[in-house]
Amino acid sequence: MTGPQPNPQILAITPYVAGESRVVGANRVVKLSSNEGAFGPPPGAQAAFRQAAAEMHRYPDGDSRELRRAIGKRFGLDPARIVCGTGSDELIQHICHIWGGPGADILMSMHGFTMYQISGTYSGARVIKVPERNLTADVDALLAAVTPATKILFIANPNNPTGSLLAPAELARLRAGLPAHVLLVVDAAYAEYVTEPDYDAGAGLVARTDNTLMLRTFSKIFGMGGMRVGWAYGTREMIDLINRVRGVFNLTIASQAAAVAALAEPGWVEKGVAHNTEWRARLAAALEKAGIKVWPSHGNFLLADFATPERARGADAFLRGRGIIVRPMGGYDLPACLRITVGTAEECTLVADALETFMAAEAARADG
Ligand SMILES: *Cc1c(COP(=O)(O)O)cnc(C)c1O
Repeated sequence: MTGPQPNPQILAITPYVAGESRVVGANRVVKLSSNEGAFGPPPGAQAAFRQAAAEMHRYPDGDSRELRRAIGKRFGLDPARIVCGTGSDELIQHICHIWGGPGADILMSMHGFTMYQISGTYSGARVIKVPERNLTADVDALLAAVTPATKILFIANPNNPTGSLLAPAELARLRAGLPAHVLLVVDAAYAEYVTEPDYDAGAGLVARTDNTLMLRTFSKIFGMGGMRVGWAYGTREMIDLINRVRGVFNLTIASQAAAVAALAEPGWVEKGVAHNTEWRARLAAALEKAGIKVWPSHGNFLLADFATPERARGADAFLRGRGIIVRPMGGYDLPACLRITVGTAEECTLVADALETFMAAEAARADG
């Protein structure tokens, strides 16, 4: 062989498949494939983005100081223990390289977020997927999978794509059962959508321990996936390590300004949560009435279970024919399922009506 050869683990990575946004032949598309939030970006964030245009010749503040201050104020956290990333995806990658790497084991649950597997493998670590129970992370199985080589355990809470949630006591039991040298990463990308009164997105656990890191993002409830803003909260030592390796000017001036403005948008989160709670329930009820099993969800999406991969594929094709894009789940080893984002009231109604028609046709076909 000639030419540059990649490190061998790179070839083991299956490229991430993002939610699609186009359907050939459809002039109006309903995109419910990437959990982007029902209301678009906050108006104040859009204004801040436009204003930043005049400053684009300037390098951004490499430490995202104003943004970290605003995040700290909003969530009652010490800004010195926060680091921002170009989406939490960037931070996941650094975490894997800092604490994982060759010889390390990284644990995740079977249907956990794919970026843990991609970034963990990239670092040279072995990524181990631990079986779940009822599409929910199984604390006992995770603890049983720990070896002396285990360095990191990633858990999304709520989890994408299953929507499942670990109760605070279960998360605390997981932390308590892990050796002190294992970093527990609690990825709370969907934290704002959780309505359980005793929910802790992870900040409480970070405060009580010195080996837990919380990840958050502006991509979901704040509707800013295109701006790439995420953040981590951990010990000062952890934040210092991530600061050494992240892109020095990772967040653009526009991203920083828009995120600060998003936090200041009056009532934004409350509106998003109220809408999501109502329409997630309505959409779930409509799908179940149509004969589709829906897994309980704490996020801004539903995992619809069509029982067979053939039927899920058929439903996906049927929706696409109507310009509706949802997310096939074959890559998550859930080929009988489709993940559907809770969109606007109109979008929820469209997808529910379409699936009702699809299921009626399926039933007629089975009878005939
Ligand atoms: C969407 C998502 C993220 C983050 O995304 P960024 O856009 O990179 O901030 C992280 N974890 C989970 C579980 C997600 O669903």
